[in-house]
Amino acid sequence: MMGRIPGIRHLFGLRGPRSLEILAGYFGVREDRIISIRQVHGDSIRVIDASSDEGTVEAAGQDGDAVVTNDPGVVLTVRTADCLPILIWDAEKNAVGAIHAGWRGSLKAVASKAVSSLQAAFGSRPRDLRVGIGPAAGPCCYEVDRPVLELLRERFDFWRDVVREKGNGKGMLDLPGLNVRQLVGAGVSPDRIEAADACTVCHSERFYSFRRDGTASGGMLSGIMILDENASV
Ligand SMILES: [Zn+2]
Repeated sequence: MMGRIPGIRHLFGLRGPRSLEILAGYFGVREDRIISIRQVHGDSIRVIDASSDEGTVEAAGQDGDAVVTNDPGVVLTVRTADCLPILIWDAEKNAVGAIHAGWRGSLKAVASKAVSSLQAAFGSRPRDLRVGIGPAAGPCCYEVDRPVLELLRERFDFWRDVVREKGNGKGMLDLPGLNVRQLVGAGVSPDRIEAADACTVCHSERFYSFRRDGTASGGMLSGIMILDENASV
């Protein structure tokens, strides 16, 4: 995903019982530098400002479905199975973000709200952002029912582009597509958005899936960190 990018380190879809330890090793940080917010399928964004000492402590473990920072050396993580992990990077302002977007968060436009947070907190310009979209349940497998379809119709005039109706009141939702549309609507350039295009339900050998394996299956970690150019990483 996104290949290797100078200035940041990131990864998508790490799974297994030792994933936190492996993540710390990959990023070269202590585990207490890994920020895990308490995801609640909402739209609140946690901001970790490097200029505030308490920022890290405050954000970790708090309710939220996206977290943004300009602090090099903290790893922002999200945990997903069929929901969408989104990682954002602003090379100009040296800020990053991590977003957890399932259908609930996506209906609340959590991705575009995270872009707004980057703008408000760090002066990011949407056109400077690069976005990586990780593995999630694809349009092949993500069935939603009538109430969700109604909300999609109500809130997004482009809903036909991201839903295939099945005629029985249900529909197949293109969750990555819905988030790409929101990000583009927030000013992110489409050619700076890179999607994994990998369905977690179809690919059991590579991914966890709540829809396929049940909630006991755990989840996958995705993370992003600004590299401190002055430190030897
Ligand atoms: Zn699938």
